[in-house]
Amino acid sequence: MTYRPTIGLEVHAELTTRTKMFCGSANDPDESRPNVNVCPVCMAHPGTLPVINQEAVRHILRIGTAIKGRQADFSEFDRKSYFYPDIPKGYQISQYEHPLITGGSLSGVAITRVHLEEDTARSIHIAGKSLVDFNRAGIPLMELVTEPVIHDALTAGRFARELQLLLRTLGASEANLEKGEMRIEANISVSSGETKFGTKVEVKNINSFRSVERAIAFEIERQISLIDSGGKVVQETRGWDETKQVTFHQRFKEGSADYRYFPEPDLPKLVLSEIPEFSLESLRASLPELPWDKRERLRKEYGLKEDVVEFFMQDIRLGKFFEEVISGRTPDFARLAANYITTDLTALLKEKAQNVFLEADTFIKLMDMSVSNKLSSRGVKDTLLVMVEKGGDPEIIAKEHNLLQMHDTETLRAAVLVVLEEEKKAVEEYRAGKEAAMQYLIGKSMKATKGAGNPAILKDLISKELL
Ligand code: ADP
Ligand code: MG
Repeated sequence: MTYRPTIGLEVHAELTTRTKMFCGSANDPDESRPNVNVCPVCMAHPGTLPVINQEAVRHILRIGTAIKGRQADFSEFDRKSYFYPDIPKGYQISQYEHPLITGGSLSGVAITRVHLEEDTARSIHIAGKSLVDFNRAGIPLMELVTEPVIHDALTAGRFARELQLLLRTLGASEANLEKGEMRIEANISVSSGETKFGTKVEVKNINSFRSVERAIAFEIERQISLIDSGGKVVQETRGWDETKQVTFHQRFKEGSADYRYFPEPDLPKLVLSEIPEFSLESLRASLPELPWDKRERLRKEYGLKEDVVEFFMQDIRLGKFFEEVISGRTPDFARLAANYITTDLTALLKEKAQNVFLEADTFIKLMDMSVSNKLSSRGVKDTLLVMVEKGGDPEIIAKEHNLLQMHDTETLRAAVLVVLEEEKKAVEEYRAGKEAAMQYLIGKSMKATKGAGNPAILKDLISKELL
């Protein structure tokens, strides 16, 4: 029997805003003291009323514009009832019937909807006690739902990474999975071809992109072996156990009827067309260069390879630095700079694990010294090391550390003559037609010039002497 897996994702992301979704309490993910960013509204005191955060709505509309989704004419909020200590009102304000965005696509995956809701408080369970921190209660939360159109784990992982990149590019969310700023739930089913879809299982508590892929792959295998051995998949919510690398039963899924959704009576209908800032034109004008456009530009304008482009897409800081360095320069220069940034500079930054950073203009100067042969690749590396450690001008550093390539033929010839005198055996071998002997002689001459000799010039000098 062959099976066809199907996956649909539901992704939540905490939005970057100054204040919470429905009140003036601060939205500060870095606050470490519990229960300080709270007020009567997000603590659900009787008689308090919510007010819609325009900044949060704008984030969702910009995301919708980027994925070419359809913006609602009007939107409404709904109450989703459930009872748990992390939800002080006894319901969450969410959007059910009238999401802000419907449709669109990202990374080739069709999007069902993007809507806005509020986050719950954080529960902490220690030493047999449960504690609740309400700093997170009421933080604006995006929920994005995909169509069930993904059929393998790697595509799901790729989609989730692209969504994180989009959220960060738009400044909509920090979207760190480890911090719970972005949370991915995967719905997974397998079908044997008799029916289009099998029964789906929802998997939660996935804390990294690798776990997204692994949890989905595990769940596909589990469902297939279950069916193969005569069992039946039941609709349930399962958790991902990071240590055991397995999914496990958490609860049988509520139907939406259990939530008793109904329109939130304390909030007005949101007529988007009445807000000029939310017009499609002004939303479009507010978008930065989107990831897929940037990829295309880096590939086409500079002829960069796919893995190099991806490096600069994922490392936002070095990506910006790179753009500054290559602005207005040729593709050749861009490829040279890309090469040094992705290898030597990255290694140095990792090794030093420091936050001091190079200025683009000094790095450009260093690259220009390489282009004009003032520095060998060794010389560039050594200069870069000093630049990263102490900063400074590459020209001065190279001079001080004797790293400049020597072009002065007379000095180089003197060094070559000494080497040829000392290396009689290699000279004989070269004359007998052994090409490797030339490399050896160049190496020795480089050493004699303390690495400063330009190898091309040295080679030229040696061949002339041995004619
Ligand atoms: P529910 O009402 O149970 O929440 P939805 O229809 O809202 O279900 O879909 C929730 C998520 O599950 C969506 O991401 C959707 O793409 C996905 N999904 C729906 N049916 C399937 C299926 N048969 N297999 C895998 N994923 C599915
Ligand atoms: Mg749902």
